[in-house]
Amino acid sequence: MPAVQAIVATDPTGPLTVGTVVRRDPGPRDVLIEIVWSGVCHSDIHTVRGDWGGVEYPLAVGHEIAGVVVAVGAEVASHRVGDRVGVGCMVGSCRECDNCRAGQEQYCERGFVATYAGVDVDGGVTQGGYATHVVVAEDFVLRIPAALPFDKVAPLLCAGITTYSPLRHWNVGPGMRVAVVGMGGLGHIAVKIAHAMGAEVTVLSQSLRKREDGLAFGADHFYATSDAATFTTLARSFDLILNTVSAPLVLDDYLELLALDGTFVSVGAPPEPASVTLFTLFTNRRRFAGSSIGGIRETQEMLDFCAEHGVVPEIEVIAADQINEAWGKVVAGDVRYRYVIDISTLATA
Ligand code: NAP
Ligand code: ZN
Ligand code: ZN
Repeated sequence: MPAVQAIVATDPTGPLTVGTVVRRDPGPRDVLIEIVWSGVCHSDIHTVRGDWGGVEYPLAVGHEIAGVVVAVGAEVASHRVGDRVGVGCMVGSCRECDNCRAGQEQYCERGFVATYAGVDVDGGVTQGGYATHVVVAEDFVLRIPAALPFDKVAPLLCAGITTYSPLRHWNVGPGMRVAVVGMGGLGHIAVKIAHAMGAEVTVLSQSLRKREDGLAFGADHFYATSDAATFTTLARSFDLILNTVSAPLVLDDYLELLALDGTFVSVGAPPEPASVTLFTLFTNRRRFAGSSIGGIRETQEMLDFCAEHGVVPEIEVIAADQINEAWGKVVAGDVRYRYVIDISTLATA
């Protein structure tokens, strides 16, 4: 398989440029996908900037992939040429450990193969979705339901499953009081999903600037965390708090908002260690948890759930040559609410 065109990072701080990445030759159980839409996740930026540790360059990131199958290996049974498919944050796992067998490949005991900056089956470094094509094992390729608009579906492959999985795990439904902290890419989808699950949803955002949007996405209440009164008004009032913030928070302030047996779960992934006063957890028998993306079976369930409930991400389409500007806006908190790269523009970039 020849090198394919991609947007690549060549160092931690410089601009992304157009280059190429090499894909492995498709094996008998692989699917070759022509990428059409590619979402921009804050994790792409954390990774390239080295926030979570060093990575090898050049690197193409991107793990919110929507595309069309253009070839399948001889043994592929679940996808056909012409199908609309998605790929998220994982492209492989051991498939044998207890967690993999339970459909929780994101907790593979040997570590899942990340879509980018991971160790590929051939020992090489995996390269992500800011590219024209990708080769993925069929069991890590998702079906895109016809009811979901193709241009808007990509963000569900990371932002969607990363928020759906903890909401499901903690049994969100009618009668549950759920707070979503941070209304960016992950947060805005979390609001829509939690609302569709029937919960009473509150957004905790830095300011009230996104209030109208939050209410339109299904939130029942919207508060600014810059207002100290928010933390007294809402003390002990949530069953679940889902933190999607990419920067450190004063966690005790948020833990104080949990009711009896409430859980604070973080999917936001700032690199700094977090500090919690244990006495804050003793009160109300509170729990502090984390959650990593979601399994393949659950990702398909999430896509089907979003199709059934009309949960669709809010996106801004960009051309390949707008990627550096877009990253700057994500870091500045100016995205409404997810950038999606129109990969057809890569050919002319
Ligand atoms: P994003 O679009 O940049 O959204 C983050 C939101 O956090 C912002 O919109 C903003 O919301 C809030 N925020 C940003 N800086 C803040 C600060 N200094 N203080 C308080 N709030 C702040 O990012 P994303 O793509 O949704 O990703 C969010 C985080 O989740 C990232 O750290 C990412 O790496 C992580 N992530 C984790 C997983 C996982 O498996 N656990 C998967 C995907 C992503 P408001 O304007 O509403 O305050
Ligand atoms: Zn992501
Ligand atoms: Zn495993």
